[in-house]
Amino acid sequence: MNHFELRGGELHCEGVSLRAIAEAVGTPVYVYSTATLERHYTVLRDALAAAGLKAPLIAYAVKANSNVAVLRTLGDLGAGADTVSEGEIRRALAAGIPPQRIVFSGVGKTEAEIAFAVDTGVAEINVESEPELHVVSRIAHARGKRADIAIRVNPDIAAGGHAKISTGKSDNKFGVSFSEAERLYANAANMAGVRPVGVACHIGSQIVDLAPMEAAFAKMRGLVERIRAEGLPLQRLDLGGGLGAPYFDQPEPPSPADYAAMIARAMAGLDIELAFEPGRMIAANAGVLLARVIHVHQRPEGRRFLVLDAAMNDLMRPAMYDAFHDIRPVVPRPADGAGSDKPYDVVGPICETGDTFTRDRALPPLGPGDLVAFMTAGAYGAAMASEYNSRPLVPEVLVKGDRWAVVRPRPTYEEMLAREAAPPWQQ
Ligand SMILES: *Cc1c(COP(=O)(O)O)cnc(C)c1O
Repeated sequence: MNHFELRGGELHCEGVSLRAIAEAVGTPVYVYSTATLERHYTVLRDALAAAGLKAPLIAYAVKANSNVAVLRTLGDLGAGADTVSEGEIRRALAAGIPPQRIVFSGVGKTEAEIAFAVDTGVAEINVESEPELHVVSRIAHARGKRADIAIRVNPDIAAGGHAKISTGKSDNKFGVSFSEAERLYANAANMAGVRPVGVACHIGSQIVDLAPMEAAFAKMRGLVERIRAEGLPLQRLDLGGGLGAPYFDQPEPPSPADYAAMIARAMAGLDIELAFEPGRMIAANAGVLLARVIHVHQRPEGRRFLVLDAAMNDLMRPAMYDAFHDIRPVVPRPADGAGSDKPYDVVGPICETGDTFTRDRALPPLGPGDLVAFMTAGAYGAAMASEYNSRPLVPEVLVKGDRWAVVRPRPTYEEMLAREAAPPWQQ
C-alpha cells in the first residue's frame, strides 16, 4: 500500500502532482511520501504488538534511505536507527534519534568508528567477530565505559532476492558461527569494556518467503536458551530486517501480520525483548524516481529504446542486482484506440550496456518529454546514487499532504567541480 495514485489523470504523491515537482526541480528526482513511510512503520509496530510480542526497538536500517528528513519522519514516530558507519550514526543523531535507540552494526567497523559509537552511547554495538569483540572492549574500557553489545550470529541459512543481498550463509562475511557464539558471549561477560545484552541476526534482504526466516529464528531461540542455561543474562534478541517489498518481478511479500505471527510462533513461551532492523519494507514503496524521456529510438530491425535522463548512477539496483522496477507514465495518454502497449528497452544515457533498466517491457505509447516514474524506488535508490559520468547527484523531495520540499538539492556544476582541488604542481 502506498500513496502514489492517479488523480485527475496525473500521477500524484499524496496531494501533490509529480508533474509539478518534476517541472519545478527538474529530472531525475526522487520523491518520497511521508504518509507511506509513516504507514509502513506503524503497520509493522502494530502487527508486532498485536501478535503479543515485546518489541521496544524497531531500528530503521538507515542505509536503505539515509536522507535526514526521512530519518526524522520515522524517528518522530519512535523508530530507532540501525547504522553501519559513523556517517550513519551522525545522520541518525542529526535527525533527532536518541543514542538509546541507535544500533551500530557492520563487519568492518574501524577503531575510530567504534570510539565514536562508544562516546555517543549507542544502545547496542552488534559485534561481528572475535577480534572485534576485543577491540570494542579495549576502546570502551580505556574510556571508563562498558559498552552494551550483541553478538551477531550467522545462522547459516540463505535467504533473499539475490545472491548479492543474501547474508545468512556461513560462507558470507557476516557474523560469527553458531558454534562460536556461545563461547564469545561467555567471554564477553568477563571482559571489562563490554556488557553482552543479546544476540542478533540478519539473514538477507528482499525476502519474500517466511520459511527460511522462521528456521533462522528457531535457531536463534535455541541459542538464547542455551546461553541463558549457562546462567548468563540475555535480555534482547535482534532479528534484523530483510522483509521484501513488492517490486515488478517479485511475488507479493508476506504481510507484517504474517511476519509477526511467524515470530510469535517461533518465540512462543520465551520471555525476551525483540529488536528489528527493517529498511526496505519501510522505505521502498514510499519513493519513486521521476525521469523524462529524451527520445524514443526505434531500430529498423525491431528493438525500440526508451532513452531516459535517469541512469544507473541514479538508480543502481537494476545494474547491480538484476532488479526490476515498475515503470509508469506520470501523465498517461488517453488510450489511442489501437491503445496497445509496446515493448521497450528502457535505458539511461551512460556509456555502458549495464545502464539498462529493463528490456522488452510493455509500456503505453511514450514520446520525447514524457515523464515516467520508477515505482518502489525509495530504498537503495538515492542512497546508492553516485555522480558517475559527472551527472550531478540526484536530488530528493519529501511530500507531506499538499506540501512538498526539496530535502537534498541537486548540486550545481560549480558545486560539483568546487569539491575537487588542484595539486600544488598544477597551480
Ligand atoms: C541492510 C541491513 C538491514 C536492512 O535490510 P532490509 O532488507 O532493507 O530490511 C538490517 N540489518 C542489517 C545488519 C543490515 O545490514
